[in-house]
Amino acid sequence: MKMQSNHDSPFIMLATLFSVLVLSSSQDFDFFYLVQEWPGSHCDTEQGCCYPTTGKPASDFGIHGLWPNYNDGSYPSNCNSSNSFDASKISDLISRMQLEWPTLSCPSKDGLKFWGHEWKKHGTCAESILDQHAYFETTLKLKNKINLLHALEGAGIQPNGQMYSLESITSAIQVASGYTPRIQCNNDTSGNSQLHEISLCVDSMAADFIECPVLPNGRSCGSSIEFPSF
Ligand code: 5GP
Repeated sequence: MKMQSNHDSPFIMLATLFSVLVLSSSQDFDFFYLVQEWPGSHCDTEQGCCYPTTGKPASDFGIHGLWPNYNDGSYPSNCNSSNSFDASKISDLISRMQLEWPTLSCPSKDGLKFWGHEWKKHGTCAESILDQHAYFETTLKLKNKINLLHALEGAGIQPNGQMYSLESITSAIQVASGYTPRIQCNNDTSGNSQLHEISLCVDSMAADFIECPVLPNGRSCGSSIEFPSF
């Protein structure tokens, strides 16, 4: 009687196919960027800004988003149009989101459109590990693990309109957090390069910070950049 090898068994073949499908759908990105924005540098531009309907945000970094990324620097986006943003799923988080994830786009808004955009474009690409509530709650939690403004102020870097070296900003975050940040700049109305966004990398389970697999650092910045007040 001919024995069937494991390789030929329809059961083994099906199980292998299943595990390949499960693995490929759970590994749909490599890491996250937690991106935070300095509100003064959003407002201080040609396009300007509008304060949210809930009032002027604190003079602090605000969340832009939690973005799944690939190790080669590219990223997935708009991954599931059928999983649309539903504010009722995050009703317990709204008051914290208004404080820590304010919208600055015009005309003034309450934040729902910005949060919905972030969920649709980025959050749906990490739905294998974070549902809507977990996506927003985890992002808030990660922001509160490392206080970027304290890190900068601890190194004498204040939002006072002065110029600081890109290197000193990077090093202040590195010393305080243990991780190298990605720094992005924009231009104020006079064309000066200014500190706009700081990103830190987070592992693919959204559990903890990691050193960034790719760091297209400071490409948008001059070697000396302004830190405007807000
Ligand atoms: P991204 O597509 O880069 O994830 O998010 C940027 C989008 O969010 C833009 O369409 C922008 O108009 C909108 N948006 C709404 N509020 C804000 C805000 O406060 N900051 C930033 N950077 N984008 C905002």
